[in-house]
Amino acid sequence: MPKYDLFIDGERHVPTSGAYYVSDDPYLCRPWAQIAQGNAADVEKAVAAAHRAFTSGRWPELTATQRGHLMWKVADLISANADRLAEIERRDNGKLASEVTVQVRYLADYFRYYAGLADKLQSHVLPTDKKGVFSYTKYQPKGVIGIITPWNSPLALTSWKLAPALAAGCTAVVKPSQFTSASMIELAELFTQAGFPPGVVNVVTGFGREVGEPLVEHPDIAHIGFTGGDLAGRKVYELAARGLKTVTLELGGKSPNIVFDDADLDQAVKGVVSGIFAASGQTCQAGSRLLVQRTIHDDFVQRLVEFISTAKMGDPALPDTQIGPIATRPQFEKILEYIEIARSEGARCVAGGNVRADLGGGQFIEPTIFTDVDNRMRIAQEEVFGPVLAVIPFTDEADAVRIGNDVQFGLAAGVWTKSLHRAMYMTDRLCAGTVWVNNYRATSFTSPFGGFKKSGIGRESGTEAIMEYLETKCVWISTDLDVPNPFIRR
Ligand code: NAD
Repeated sequence: MPKYDLFIDGERHVPTSGAYYVSDDPYLCRPWAQIAQGNAADVEKAVAAAHRAFTSGRWPELTATQRGHLMWKVADLISANADRLAEIERRDNGKLASEVTVQVRYLADYFRYYAGLADKLQSHVLPTDKKGVFSYTKYQPKGVIGIITPWNSPLALTSWKLAPALAAGCTAVVKPSQFTSASMIELAELFTQAGFPPGVVNVVTGFGREVGEPLVEHPDIAHIGFTGGDLAGRKVYELAARGLKTVTLELGGKSPNIVFDDADLDQAVKGVVSGIFAASGQTCQAGSRLLVQRTIHDDFVQRLVEFISTAKMGDPALPDTQIGPIATRPQFEKILEYIEIARSEGARCVAGGNVRADLGGGQFIEPTIFTDVDNRMRIAQEEVFGPVLAVIPFTDEADAVRIGNDVQFGLAAGVWTKSLHRAMYMTDRLCAGTVWVNNYRATSFTSPFGGFKKSGIGRESGTEAIMEYLETKCVWISTDLDVPNPFIRR
């Protein structure tokens, strides 16, 4: 069984505790790797290494262009190692090989995008109302960044933070999810191979309380980039606030996927299915509420049920598998609990709802559809993070907007219509960080991603993301040789 140490100051390190825990393969439900159990002492070492690398040695001396060159090298190494990294992630979280391989290969382009952006940020010469001064802004890296990520897309969600942070000139300590840490240790080694100075990228594996909290609280951490659930997100926000640290929080969602009666229903069915059942619903942007116009409700639900009845569940390593296992045991149990909650609330299960104990180690839940859902029910308001779709009828555009926005979250939304007017009406009014029209799930390094309301704070990807890792400094230079006498009023 592979054994993964911590990664601090450019090298693997045995954890201070000497302890390792096992990471399970969710398909077989058997341990497949041992992971170092870090603690506050390890966080201390990692932050010290990152702080040293930020303030001394080669890293702060590099120009933005030179940082970009290093990032290009790491991108090439990611490309060369993508299939191996994807295989590790599949073992850790059970994601389909066909999906995770594409996702990891794509990460190289994240690093290339920010490598290119590193030397293209332009600050401003400021117009001023004062005579005898010249004033401009300049951007400066914030410092050491703490990165905390969940288990569903470990390397992708880390890269969304790490690539802009490095392009900005920051250094980082990463705490991956305790369920999916192995790929991050492997990725960290690629930074050393690419020629990054030791300490620029560090990884401390372990649990939220033992590693995550000391990382957020550490006085030398300048900013926290967090993706995860709203409970842990709130805790991170509170701890960061005590140290007056800035945060980027990417939290949960309960996104509406809205189908109008004029939509191309064959296309909409595919969009709704991929929105909720891709990655077995374990994605933050899952379109977990299907809002469907009353006039087509029964027909559309029947099309959905027929479509998913053909989905092949099973071994995520096989290229023709379409639905894989649930990534962790606690998540598996949580989803089953929500299926029971939906039933007890009076929702009608028209597809799925059962465990497939005959597959792998048994951690499979069928794609599940509930109709007769009222938007006030818990199944419509709370994030399940699994393959469970709540179907809610609506009458017209205004009703769709009202129901669509009637949740605490605001991460994403989908709209299916052939009418440009409807599309514009909906995109203007939906409270969501991303709105897809006649598609669902597209994301890119070029496009800002993040949430309204309780779905988070700040944006990742696109040019906006790099600003999360920069401070703006305003410089005033006197062009007048005479400093005014402070005792003479002007
Ligand atoms: P989680 O919140 O349980 O854990 C996320 C990370 O936070 C893990 O590394 C965990 O160890 C750490 N953590 C937990 N408690 C902590 C604490 N007190 N202090 C510091 N760190 C702590 O989330 P999860 O179960 O791993 O992932 C699922 C959640 O992530 C879902 O709610 C999902 O919506 C969200 N998510 C959001 C996005 C997005 O971009 N908005 C993307 C993927 C996942």
